[in-house]
This record gives sequence, structure tokens and C-alpha cells, in this order.
Amino acid sequence: MTTASHVLIRTSCGRSVRPRMLVVTSYKLQERVAMKIISAHEGVIPISSSMSNAFIDFSTMDCSIVALVSDVTVDGEPVVGYGFNSNGRYSAGEILRRRILPRLMDAPADSLLDENGELSPAIAWDAMMRNEKPGGHGERSVAVGVVDMALHDLVAKVAAVPLYRWVAQKYGDGTYDDSVFVYAAGGYYAPGKADKDLQDEMKGFLDAGYEVVKMKIGGADLADDLRRIEAVLQVLGGDGSRLAVDVNGRFGLETALAYAHALEPYGLFWYEEVGDPLDYQLNATIAENYRGPIATGENLFSLQDARNLIRYAGLRPDRDYIQVDPALSYGLVEYTRIQDMLAQHGWSSRRCIPHGGHQFSLHIAAALKLGGNESYPGEFQPTGGFADDAVVRNSRVALDDRPGIGFEGKANFYQVLRALHA
Ligand code: MG
Repeated sequence: MTTASHVLIRTSCGRSVRPRMLVVTSYKLQERVAMKIISAHEGVIPISSSMSNAFIDFSTMDCSIVALVSDVTVDGEPVVGYGFNSNGRYSAGEILRRRILPRLMDAPADSLLDENGELSPAIAWDAMMRNEKPGGHGERSVAVGVVDMALHDLVAKVAAVPLYRWVAQKYGDGTYDDSVFVYAAGGYYAPGKADKDLQDEMKGFLDAGYEVVKMKIGGADLADDLRRIEAVLQVLGGDGSRLAVDVNGRFGLETALAYAHALEPYGLFWYEEVGDPLDYQLNATIAENYRGPIATGENLFSLQDARNLIRYAGLRPDRDYIQVDPALSYGLVEYTRIQDMLAQHGWSSRRCIPHGGHQFSLHIAAALKLGGNESYPGEFQPTGGFADDAVVRNSRVALDDRPGIGFEGKANFYQVLRALHA
């Protein structure tokens, strides 16, 4: 017999409580147990902002964070894996507290190990999804994604390698990109924001090392949006291939086609999430009527949804982009399944540029050789963005050598994460 596994739930007001539904359980561990998760801690933090896109404002946006404390120690400190959910979807604490974390922590420690005796995120994924029916992914995919991120942070730290190397070895071909293409996402609507402000914002992105920028459209009428687009193009030397526009799923078919017709001459980087993310027929009709690249997928949260996108949404593997965000869609375990599916359909991993602008996807992009990663300079703090010392040059970010995801190199966020369990 060994000591108990237990879940301590750290509430958003900062108290650690042992939920009534969870009992302390003892497990008989076998010889091959290399490590185990001693405790899991969950919390909610705000990542609010005054900005708006065509569909929502971010005034009440929040985020789940998780810490998984292991029995492995380095310099007397336990190795801890951290996870959080990407922006755009709210915290999923109830699902984490009542279903996902209890299942993970109630699973016998040795049942989560692979054939090498190492903690397996893929086996843990099955444990977390026990008794869940298929379909209806919604917030559940967010909850599982948070823990999947923490598991990957943990296993890479235990292996003492940065996550991109661990992922390249386990899920890729062993090699990885040294740097990742990033574009700066901004250009939101805000009260009183003039074209000059929009131009200054974009100039700031260029000064920070980005060559491709993104702005929101669809929150104004076509004439106003075209004026805003032309203002940004002035900053980009008139080069439409350096500007992406994002509708955030706002348009019906008629408006989508009117914009498509007006946008096509600009030769934009892409025309993003034009209609409802699940309206594949609408997307297919746009693809038939717009020659430029289309991007979508940030609001698809499962292999099956992504497969339906590829089957029915008319996307073109020679130019379009898939933006599924691993942090929101059941994590990296599910994302590797999506990559397999894309490969089966003849899609290159380079056509994937995940939504979210976070460190987790940066590692995944390098390791699985994706086309790049989103970046939100300065937004969605403290969770968003890369390490404090990350440098963007020629629209690329280099990876660093910190073990795991490297939250420790993002001082403000690390402080918040550490407070979950310290
Ligand atoms: Mg978007």
C-alpha cells in the first residue's frame, strides 16, 4: 500500500477544499510505477479585455487553470505540470471539478503508464473521458484540453526536455522546426477607436517584428470595413498578402458573398471564419466563390468536427487554413488524431495555424511542423503570449530550452499558476 492520491480543488476565491464526492483512496502500486500525480488543483482567473469582435466582447472572459503535482522532485521541489484554456471560451471549472479531475485522480497510478513505465497523456485521456458519450463537445473539450496541457507539461518536465522535443519524439518524426511563423492578431473594435488608432496598432505590430497582421471585420457595415481595411493596407505598403481579416462567424451567406466579392481584389492573407463554424455548406459556397485563402476551425473542438469540416466545407488543401486550437479541443492527444485525419485526406500539417496565441500551440507547431501559430501581442494576460524573453523577428519566434511548456519563463503567469498549489 502506498499513500493516497487525492484531489484538492483550489477555488477561484483561493481556498483549497476536498470535494465531498472525492474520497481518499489507497492504491496498491506495482514495481513499474515511475511516477504519479499526487494532487490536482484547479482555479479560475479573469483574462478580460475591453475589446470586441463582430460577435462578442471580452469584458467577462475568464479561464480555467490547473496544476498537477507529481511525486517526482528536482532540487527538492516537486515537478508540476500546468495547463490553462485558451481565450474565446470561458472557464470549465464545474466539468473539471465534477468529472475530469476526479476520473484522472481516481485511476490507479500504474494504469496511466505506457509500456516504458512513463505517464501517458493518451492513456490519461481515456481515463478522463470514461462514461462520456460521443458528440456535443462544447465545454467538455475545454476541460479535457486544460488537463491534457498540464499532463504534457508534466511529462516533458520529467523527461527534462522542452515540450517541442518531447512531442517531436513521441508524436512526430523526431525532428522539429527551430522557429515558428507567427502573425499578430488585433484590429478589434473598441469604443472611439479611429482608423488612425487602428493604423498605430498595426504599426506597433510591425515594429515588434511581425510581418503579417490580422484585423476584425463584420462588426461594421461593408463600407466602413473596407475603409478600415484600406487604412491598414496603407501601413502594409498596400500588400494585401500581409493582412488577414476575421469575421468571427458573423455572416450569413448573402453578406459573406458580398464581402468576398469586395475583398478578393486585395489578395488577402486569408478571410477567416466567415460564417457559423458548423455551417459547412455555407463555407463550401464561399470557397466556390472566393479565390483567396479561407481560414476556419477555431470553434471546432473534436476530431469528428474537424473531419466534417474537411468532408463537407469545400476547403482547398492548396490554399486554405485549419485553425483548430489544441487547448480548446481536447488537447494534444486529440490534435494528433486530427493531424492523422488531415494527412489521410491529403492535407499537409503546414496548412494548420492554430488559434489562441499561446505557448502550448507554439511547441506543437514546431514539433508537428505546422504552418505557424497565432499571436495576440499584449492581450489576454496573464495567460496569452509566449515567454517574456521570446523575440519575434521576421514574423518568426524561436523556441527556448526551458523544460516542458516553459510557463516558468512567463513571470506573471507563473506566479498565478504556482499560487494554485504552493
Ligand atoms: Mg478568429
